[in-house]
Amino acid sequence: MQLAKVQGVYAIPPRLEVAPEPQLTGVSCPDCGGSLSVEPEGKRADLVFKCRVGHTYSVTELLVAKEERLHARLWTAYTAMMELEALLHDLAAREANEDGRRRYAQRGEVARRQAGRLRRLIEDDTPVTLPADGEPT
Ligand SMILES: [Zn+2]
Repeated sequence: MQLAKVQGVYAIPPRLEVAPEPQLTGVSCPDCGGSLSVEPEGKRADLVFKCRVGHTYSVTELLVAKEERLHARLWTAYTAMMELEALLHDLAAREANEDGRRRYAQRGEVARRQAGRLRRLIEDDTPVTLPADGEPT
């Protein structure tokens, strides 16, 4: 399978094996958000990812960290949407003006539906299954 650009950037640079030094990836560091570089290391030319401040990952470690970060961010988005819905509901209940009450209620209903979609997305999200030796082939 050929490497593909996503939004104009390769996640892993093509022709990595012929490069004399680490190459910049299109992937951010799961710990600090900085740019990750990658280079093949060792006899098996396993990919090693490093950010500017020194966070270092094997392929497996990077995948696990990215999956965990994504999962946490989805929960953060879900919580934010639930809080917005609750806030709008309570503001609608306190609002004397009918038009204001309607606007709060409409946005609250949208937030409720979006929270439901986020919850289903979280529940449907399945991390990649790694082989027994830990490194995808
Ligand atoms: Zn980092």
